[in-house]
Amino acid sequence: MKKIQMVDLQSQYQKIKSEVDASILNVIESAAFINGPEVKQFQSDLEKFLDVKHVIPCGNGTDALQIALMALGLEPGDEVITADFTFAATVEVIDLLKLKSILVDVNLDTFTIDAEKLKAAITPKTKAIIPVHLFGQCANMDEIMAIAKEYNLYVIEDTAQAIGAEFKGKKAGTIGHVGCTSFFPSKNLGCYGDGGAIFTNDDDIAHRLRGIVNHGMYKRYYHDEVGVNSRLDSIQAAVLRHKLPFLNDYNKARYAAASYYTNAFKDIAGLITPAEADYSTHVYHQYTLRVLDGKRDELQAFLTEKEIPAMIYYPVPLRKQKAYNNGHYIDADFPNTDQLVQEVMSLPMHTELTEEQLVYITSAVKEFFAK
Ligand SMILES: *Cc1c(COP(=O)(O)O)cnc(C)c1O
Repeated sequence: MKKIQMVDLQSQYQKIKSEVDASILNVIESAAFINGPEVKQFQSDLEKFLDVKHVIPCGNGTDALQIALMALGLEPGDEVITADFTFAATVEVIDLLKLKSILVDVNLDTFTIDAEKLKAAITPKTKAIIPVHLFGQCANMDEIMAIAKEYNLYVIEDTAQAIGAEFKGKKAGTIGHVGCTSFFPSKNLGCYGDGGAIFTNDDDIAHRLRGIVNHGMYKRYYHDEVGVNSRLDSIQAAVLRHKLPFLNDYNKARYAAASYYTNAFKDIAGLITPAEADYSTHVYHQYTLRVLDGKRDELQAFLTEKEIPAMIYYPVPLRKQKAYNNGHYIDADFPNTDQLVQEVMSLPMHTELTEEQLVYITSAVKEFFAK
């Protein structure tokens, strides 16, 4: 059996190698490394795929979030609410821009932001919400958009882990004012380096975003505002252009592996398998279990012995990280996040898991609980 990996990018590459190699070589030969035709083509392919008016490619998912915040005209001290249980990039860019990050608890079952607690965290200084579609499933965007409308807030969707997922028939990242994604190699649509994109249906926001990614330049060598340099390079765009037509199949392969896991674990009382909300499809960026009764670390060690990788996403709530602890958070407001960091464990999840590997992994988990 092939060695089990959390993510197996080599096997996926072997299946598309000849086309991808040819298009990378083509970029090199054309020497159109920056903003070449591959970038424009990928941008328009992604606009069609997402059914969104504007895609603005950029350097990575973290930049996408930062640039989205910059485009909304927020002032230092304005508050932006996001989830306590997510990857640090989501909160990092808020504080980097001298905005004020406000972290709130998530739902125990879906791992996404708790709408009631979100509403309770709103103050007169709140200007935006960043829901994170964690592990491949959308946050409840109906609830979030209703709150945003009531309080006149912007919504930036962090869809780095959920590209291709759908909320009630609309693609993740196209429901709020702005959507942000990452093409980091291990993401559901990954390139062979760093890459990202921002989406919006709003023409004015799109205009701002295009200026900011390019040094605040709306007319060549006229800099109207402070911007950044954040580009998707042509080689990465060429890779992505080849992979985008496979994204639905990739997400289906992830779903099939997840269903195999969930079915195999259905009678294990000590495990809670991922909840699938009725409002969103799940593209399983991660397959994340909750391991009950304090057995998580023991199970992880047991699997490691059997050469099955299992990861803890995420071991520390953001509000307890040195960089983001503002001294004002109260643990009693975060019971779910504090429980999840003790319970969660993600199993290998990628497009190339074989039946043999799935049998091996699920048998090992069952063996642990039968002890
Ligand atoms: C990966 C990720 C990002 C950042 O993307 P990069 O391309 O690595 O900068 C942001 N938010 C979430 C939830 C992510 O998983």
